[in-house]
Amino acid sequence: MRVRDLSFLLVTVIGGPALAAAVSTTNLVLITIDTLRADYLSCNGSSKVKTPRLDRLAREGVNFTRARSPVPLTLPAHASILTGNYPPTHGVRDNGTYRLPEQQLSLAEVLEARGYRTAAFIGSFVLDRRYGLAQGFDVYDDRVWSDVDELETLEAERPAGEVLAALRRWFDKLEGERPFFAWIHLYDPHAPYEPPQPYRSRYPRDPYAGEVAYTDAVVGKIVDELQIRGHLSATLLAVVGDHGEGLGEHGELTHAVLIYNSTLHVPMLLRAPELVPAGRVIPDLVRTIDLAPTLLDYLGISPVLGEGVSLRSLIERDMRAKPSGDGMVAYSESLYPQLKLGWSALHGLETRDHRVIVAPRPELYDLRVDPGETDNRLAAEPGVYQRIKRQLVELLQGFEEPSGETAPPLDPDELDMLRSLGYLSGSETATQRAGSSIDPKDRLDLWNRLHLAVAQFAAADYRAAADTLTAVLAEEPGMLIAYDYLGTCYQKLSQLDLAELTYRQALGRGLKSTRLHHQLGRIYLKRGDPAAAESELRIALELDPRRVAAHYDLGQSLRAAGDLPAAAEEYRAALAINADYLWAWSGLGMTLAAMKQEDEALAAFRRVVEIDPSAALGYFNLGVQLERMGIREEAMATYRRFLELSEGQELDAQRQQAEVAIELLGQ
Ligand SMILES: [Zn+2]
Repeated sequence: MRVRDLSFLLVTVIGGPALAAAVSTTNLVLITIDTLRADYLSCNGSSKVKTPRLDRLAREGVNFTRARSPVPLTLPAHASILTGNYPPTHGVRDNGTYRLPEQQLSLAEVLEARGYRTAAFIGSFVLDRRYGLAQGFDVYDDRVWSDVDELETLEAERPAGEVLAALRRWFDKLEGERPFFAWIHLYDPHAPYEPPQPYRSRYPRDPYAGEVAYTDAVVGKIVDELQIRGHLSATLLAVVGDHGEGLGEHGELTHAVLIYNSTLHVPMLLRAPELVPAGRVIPDLVRTIDLAPTLLDYLGISPVLGEGVSLRSLIERDMRAKPSGDGMVAYSESLYPQLKLGWSALHGLETRDHRVIVAPRPELYDLRVDPGETDNRLAAEPGVYQRIKRQLVELLQGFEEPSGETAPPLDPDELDMLRSLGYLSGSETATQRAGSSIDPKDRLDLWNRLHLAVAQFAAADYRAAADTLTAVLAEEPGMLIAYDYLGTCYQKLSQLDLAELTYRQALGRGLKSTRLHHQLGRIYLKRGDPAAAESELRIALELDPRRVAAHYDLGQSLRAAGDLPAAAEEYRAALAINADYLWAWSGLGMTLAAMKQEDEALAAFRRVVEIDPSAALGYFNLGVQLERMGIREEAMATYRRFLELSEGQELDAQRQQAEVAIELLGQ
C-alpha cells in the first residue's frame, strides 16, 4: 500500500497531546531471528545453549513463552509479522513464488506515514525486495547478492555480523530528530549450521546451538550499539523468531512441511523500560501476528494493523487475576507439501488446551499433558476433535482472498539463488494436485531424502544429488520437482543429453509444467539449435505468458536464428512485464545495434548500467556502442569503468579490447 493512502492514520493519535509527544520520540527496533526455537533460549529453560543477551532482554522486559508462528516458512512468516495478518489474508503462502501484494498494509508503512525513518537490514535472499516486504521502508538493505556478473559465486545469505555492519553504516548517516524504525533480520540459525568461532568449538556436537549462541552475541551488539549512540532508552525493542526447527522431532530435520510446536513455537521478547513492565513472563497462547498491533499500541498509534490483537492488556493485567486469553486460538498452515511435493496441505488450530491438525490422517493433541505432540487422541476424543475442527473450518471460510498480484516476476537466476541456499524451488504445477490424499507425515523419509538431494545440490555436489534424486524417483515416479532438480543437476554436469531425457520422461508421464518446456528450450539454445529452442519456449509461454525469462530466452533464440525484429519484440515483451530486467535490456541493445538502430541501442545499454551500476559487462557493451557512434570521451570513460569493475574477473578478451580501444580513442 502506498503511503498517501495512509493519511487517515495521521489523525488517529490516541491519548491526547502528551502521548502524541511521546509518539514522536520512541524508536522501534524489530529483530527477527530466523529458525529460532523458543526452547533454545536459556531464559526459557534451555540447558543446550547459553543466550545471555536474549536472557537480559527478557529480564528487562516481557517474555512471551507460548508464542506461535502461523507458518514454518521464512517469507510467509515474516509477511505475517510485518502485516499482523495470517497467510491466507496476506496471500504469501511459500518462499520464492509469492510476493506480498501492494494492497497489504505493513508496520513499516504505518510508521513511515507517522514520520518515522524506516530501514530494513536483511540476512537472506529469501526476503529480497522483489518479494514485497520492502513496502514502507526508506532503506531496504538487501543488496549484497545483487551483482549479476557474479551471481553464480555470490553468497545468497550474509552472516549476522555483516547485517550489523550495515546497520552501523546506516546509524552513521542518521541525522535529525525524527524517530526511526529499524528491522534487522538475522539468518544464522537456518541450516546449514556453520557457526563461526569461538561458537563452533563451544558447541562441537550441536552446531545449531552454536549458531544460536552466535546470533545471541550479535543481538547483544545491536543493543550495545543502541546504547552507545544514545538511542536505547528511547527505543522499543522487539525480538521474535519467524519459525522453529524440527531437529528430528516428528521425523523432520529442518522446517517447512509439518506444523507442530517444534517449528511453530518461537521466542518473542519486548523491551522498553519507560513503556513496558520489566520481568514479565506471559505463559498465555499468543501469536506473532499480535506483535505488530502490540508494538503500535505501545508507540501510541492506534493498532489498526491486521488480524492480530494488541497484547498490551495481557501484559499489564493484574498478575493476581485469572489468566485471560481463554478464547485465544492460533491458526497454522503449511501449503508447502501441496505446492512443492504434490501431497496434502496441512491446516491446524491450537486452542488453550489442544492442537488439531487437519490432514488425510487427522490429529488431536492434548497439550496440557502432551506438549511434545506424540499421542494422537483422535480416536479417544472424537468430539473434541470435531469441535475444534469446526472452529478451524469457520476460520478458514472467514479469510478473504487477498487482492493484488501475489506472484513475483521470475528471473533466470532466482531459482539458482534459492537453490544455492538449500531451498527446494522449482516446478509450479504441483499446485494442480491439490486435494492429494498423501499425508506428508507418512512420506517424511522421502522428504528427508529429497532434502538431502537439495543440500547436496546447494553444496554443488551435483553427482551425489543426481544419485539421490534417481533413487527418489524410483520410489515416487510422479514427483515433478525431482525431475526438475535432476535435469538441472545434469545441466550443471554439462550432460545435456541426460537432462533432455529427464525432462522428456517427466513430460511423458503427463507432468505438465512451464518450467520443463522452458528448460528444454534452454538446452536446445545451448546446443545451438534455435529452431528447437523456439518451439519449446513457445509452449512454455503458452502455459505462462508472464514468464519473463522465457520471453528473454525466446529473444535469444530468435536472435541466434537471425530474426532480429522478432527477437527485439520478445525482449520488449520481457521488459513490459519487468522493466528492470537487465538481461533483456542487454539483449535488446545487442539486437538493435545489429539492426543499426544506434540511438535506441545506446539507450538500452545505458539502462543496463543504470539498473546495476556494478555490472562490468554492461559498461563494456555501452563502451563499444559509444565508440561505434563516435562519442569518444564518454566511450573512453566507460571502458575505464569497465576495466575497474572487471578487475580479477575472467574477461581477458574484453579487457584487452577495452585497453586497445582506449588507446586508439585517445589519439
Ligand atoms: Zn525462516
